[in-house]
Amino acid sequence: MDTYIQPTASGLIASGTFGCVRNRGTRFHEGIDLKSIHRNRRNYPLDLVCAILPGNVVYINFNAGKSTYGRYVVLQHTLESFSYYSLYAHLNEIHVQLNQAVQQGTALGIMGNTSCAKIPLSRAHLHFEIGLPLGSKDTFHAWYSKQGFKEPNFHGEWNGMNLVGLDPLAFFKSGTDFLTFIKNQPIAFTLQIATSIIPHFIQQNQALLARPLQAEKMLHGWEIAFNWLGCPLQWTPLYGLKLPANTVYVLHCNATELSQHGCRHTLEFNRQGKIFLGHVLQKQLTLLFNTHFERLH
Ligand SMILES: [Zn+2]
Repeated sequence: MDTYIQPTASGLIASGTFGCVRNRGTRFHEGIDLKSIHRNRRNYPLDLVCAILPGNVVYINFNAGKSTYGRYVVLQHTLESFSYYSLYAHLNEIHVQLNQAVQQGTALGIMGNTSCAKIPLSRAHLHFEIGLPLGSKDTFHAWYSKQGFKEPNFHGEWNGMNLVGLDPLAFFKSGTDFLTFIKNQPIAFTLQIATSIIPHFIQQNQALLARPLQAEKMLHGWEIAFNWLGCPLQWTPLYGLKLPANTVYVLHCNATELSQHGCRHTLEFNRQGKIFLGHVLQKQLTLLFNTHFERLH
């Protein structure tokens, strides 16, 4: 691990891996940081950054100052009824074009240290992420515009706030394809959600449906199983659900699975042990459904 993982200024190798690994476990890192192996005489990285799998270039940010990711490239990998992204950040050079189809191993650019937050050249690295976008361009825009951020959203739906990354090392170790990896994630909690909306997310990812949608019936809601990150893994359409509209009912919760990863703020417990919807989960539900939900007690 030490050979390839770039730690933060803390020097702790874990800080370059995925999860609640920063600031003594309180800060979440949504990808892995891979260090530079080859440098030129002026200490600039020479490492080529390559596509992990065939895909399409769906987004490029050329303006380093417009994102903590710096210059970054997003690939979309589309299978039948399922698509996911891989993201390559802090690049010094970009060698592909928007909408270009790439093969596994195509050079996307050269590793670097670009970011709107300064990264010293000595810690130049590739921030790599793999996961699922939650909202469509429209639902993400609707959420973003209500947050009171000073800057406009420069990155469409490929803004990091709309992306749920999963653990890249666990994925590579699994030896499976990404859909199987998602389906094998441990379930941390299951929600019933009262809404007739069929989100963009599940239209794009029908492979995550536990049962097919019945077009002739009126949809009353969803039962959705999540992993600890709040990544929606399995969707069951519900017909005949008797919950008030726009409410959420916590059907099942694996407290052990959730408590292993304290920094994520999905389902949380107050001091009395009562469950509540954490701010990350609230945000993710809003991005998925473009609606605010209240928890049903
Ligand atoms: Zn990183």
